[in-house]
Amino acid sequence: MRHIAIIGSGPAGYYTAEACRNIFGETARIDVIDRLPVPFGLIRTGVAPDHQSIKAVSRRYEAVALTDTVRFVGNVRVDRDIDIAELQTLYDAVVIATGAPQDRPLAIDGADLPGVVGSAQFVGWYNGHPDHARLNPPLNGTHAAVIGNGNVALDVARILAKTPEEFAGSDIVAHAREALATSHIRHITIVGRRGPHQIAMTPKELAELGKLKRAGAWVDPADLPEVSLDAALEPGLRKSVALLREFATDAAPDKAVTISFDFFAMPIAIEGDGWAERLIVERTRLDDKGAAIRTGDPYAIPASLIVSCIGYQTPPIKNVPYDGKGGRFVSDEGRVAPGLYCVGWARRGPTGTIGTNKPDGVMIADKIAQDIGNASGKQGRVGLDALLAERGVEVVTFRDWQNIDAEEIARAPEGAPREKFTDIAEMVKAAGKAS
Ligand code: NAP
Repeated sequence: MRHIAIIGSGPAGYYTAEACRNIFGETARIDVIDRLPVPFGLIRTGVAPDHQSIKAVSRRYEAVALTDTVRFVGNVRVDRDIDIAELQTLYDAVVIATGAPQDRPLAIDGADLPGVVGSAQFVGWYNGHPDHARLNPPLNGTHAAVIGNGNVALDVARILAKTPEEFAGSDIVAHAREALATSHIRHITIVGRRGPHQIAMTPKELAELGKLKRAGAWVDPADLPEVSLDAALEPGLRKSVALLREFATDAAPDKAVTISFDFFAMPIAIEGDGWAERLIVERTRLDDKGAAIRTGDPYAIPASLIVSCIGYQTPPIKNVPYDGKGGRFVSDEGRVAPGLYCVGWARRGPTGTIGTNKPDGVMIADKIAQDIGNASGKQGRVGLDALLAERGVEVVTFRDWQNIDAEEIARAPEGAPREKFTDIAEMVKAAGKAS
């Protein structure tokens, strides 16, 4: 028997579990460990609540989780309840699939002012991640700025702009639904340090901004490159730029909320008297390699809420080599050392779609197959259970999660798929574990 532990139950974790199950079948036992009592990581707390069709992929992970050889071991935190060295003693292979749940820091003056939040916090808030459910972002001002030109910036701007009715059918959590319903924000500026040809926004996601009930998107035509230059773009990007061109034709969208794109604007400081009041940016131009160069021409964008959507990083784990600059683990294509691996965002950084994790999982399963023998005599899950019981850790199983799931579905408002628990103690209670 082979024993495999996967840390993290998001897409990277479950695609790796699926690939290992496919390779080893009955000859391996696979434990998927998560620090939360609920599975699916980014699918539950990262993907936007109004993107339910993307979240449907969790059914595939559920099918893997319900296989006899695969187990979910929730509410177990590495470096608190157990460490990597202990897991390596118990398992033939340990795979780190912890994603990139932390914000890359916005390293400018004033970034610590109240009103400035990272996208991991803000997205975690509206998705009910227990770490961020109490964020309470200020929505009492009229102006917000969203820094970054990726899909997360689009998610954040869209969620800020939607009417309560537009959240019908989503699983946005109650506290965010209620706060957004009384939000005063009417002007949202999406700030990019480079230009329309350098955006990381995909066309489907960008098109959604053009279909909002009370919000209109606007691009300053002066920021758009000459139209003939679009021909050289990769087709997806060309479609996105075509959408920006459409947004530029509507001089002043006749809507209650405006979403303006401010390109060639490098954030340099945040100012305010005790809280954020404005984002100071400096005009940029692009050098011949496409990098943003500051031009010494600053101006202010009013904003009492500033959401920085500039990428994520993986938190380090004790005794695992870590690349601080890249915000991920050091590995040779996922092999940290024989028997220790990283996969998904923890391996490659926060890029790619959910599906990108599938080939990543297969690659890691192949490496495990190359590295480990048939039977090492390690204890695997028996040893883990004994150690966690000795330490008084309250493990949540997949069966327990199904209790939580049923309760979240039962308490959903009309038309919504679920009302999530946002607190670990509540989740454990709903699992039937505590009184
Ligand atoms: P991203 O796509 O890497 O975009 C990050 C943005 O932040 C870039 O525009 C980048 O500009 C900008 N940026 C970085 N550092 C900055 C700084 N110091 N000042 C100003 N701007 C800065 O990251 P993301 O939006 O967090 O998305 C992460 C991944 O999740 C992506 O692969 C994304 O496609 C995916 N995702 C997909 C969906 C979806 O499909 N619906 C939704 C959400 C996320 P530069 O280009 O100039 O560096």
